[in-house]
Amino acid sequence: MAIPFLDLGELHRPLRAEIAAAIERVMDTSSFVLGQDVGAFEREFADWIGVEHAVAVNSGTSALHLALLANNIGPGDEVVTVSMTFVATVAAIVYTGATPVFVDVDPVAWTMDPLAIESAITERTKAIVPVHLHGRVADMSAIQTIAARHHLAVIEDAAQAHGVALQGMSVGGFGAAAAFSFYPGKNLGAMGDGGAVTTRDADVADRVRLLRDWGARQKYHHEVHAYNMRLDSIQAAILRVKLPHLRAWTAQRRELALAYDRLLGAAGIRRAQIPDDPNEHVFHVYSVHLDDRDVVLDRLKKSGIGTGIHYPIPVHLLTPYERYGGGAGSLPVTEDLAKSFLSLPMCPTLGADDAEQVVSVLLESL
Ligand SMILES: *Cc1c(COP(=O)(O)O)cnc(C)c1O
Repeated sequence: MAIPFLDLGELHRPLRAEIAAAIERVMDTSSFVLGQDVGAFEREFADWIGVEHAVAVNSGTSALHLALLANNIGPGDEVVTVSMTFVATVAAIVYTGATPVFVDVDPVAWTMDPLAIESAITERTKAIVPVHLHGRVADMSAIQTIAARHHLAVIEDAAQAHGVALQGMSVGGFGAAAAFSFYPGKNLGAMGDGGAVTTRDADVADRVRLLRDWGARQKYHHEVHAYNMRLDSIQAAILRVKLPHLRAWTAQRRELALAYDRLLGAAGIRRAQIPDDPNEHVFHVYSVHLDDRDVVLDRLKKSGIGTGIHYPIPVHLLTPYERYGGGAGSLPVTEDLAKSFLSLPMCPTLGADDAEQVVSVLLESL
């Protein structure tokens, strides 16, 4: 039987009537942009994360872009980040006029290697952007210690990491600001694009609010050069229906990850590490590391099993961003992972029997 990589139809099936009612409610108000549902969702999401402020925007990319701008990152500044990420992390830094500086990732956790940060810092460095890759929390205590020592802002890319926590604290509140994505395939997804900036800092929240909506508190009184990066009310209304289910969905993702872990561990496959504290990973993606990745990928595809690679080309080797990096060979762990990562089906609607089927095909193709 075919196993999808992610089955949003199945995930939404029990919620269809409630979502349809939420959309109709927005239609009744005729307030389609930054309406009442956006404000309500911002409060609910901030509470869910455990931060003072959430400001909803039209994508995770915009959330990153505005989080950087609200922290005064701009031309002449350097921002330390990773190359093993979705391109948006780096593009957002470039949008501000700042220069991305790449560091390698840890070979076990696959997130930013704190040991690599200090040698990348210069007098121009203004911020560090760690990515909670695949939904695993980055090494925030080490990163924050380094940031404090050098007076740098930490801006978390939490696009894949809704609800992941370190020592009881949820990501989104560690640094100066954090960016979440509500792209449909994310752990909390809208039915279109969406994102949010979270922060404990009222001034940062205020600047993001200004920047997302033409820099005007009062209509036509534009205080700052700004953008149209507002969230639609319909997306907020849909997110409000889905948010109360997110803890249960995360628990189901963890169950599936544990099932994979048991099966793959028995076969000696290098795979996503399950942290001792289960709260440290929300399994947006479950990846394995295979020397013969492309052979296995082909075989899984032929058996109707959905797969992904997150990500096949590190950002420092992509044409538009090459000039910011040191070229091939400069980030050996990142480059090795790009060649050997394979993401297995991961969806709250899949169970242990699905994991068994995926792993048995995977093992047969080795
Ligand atoms: C999805 C994603 C983004 C961008 O979010 P969009 O909502 O698609 O703009 C940024 N960073 C990471 C790591 C992501 O996975």
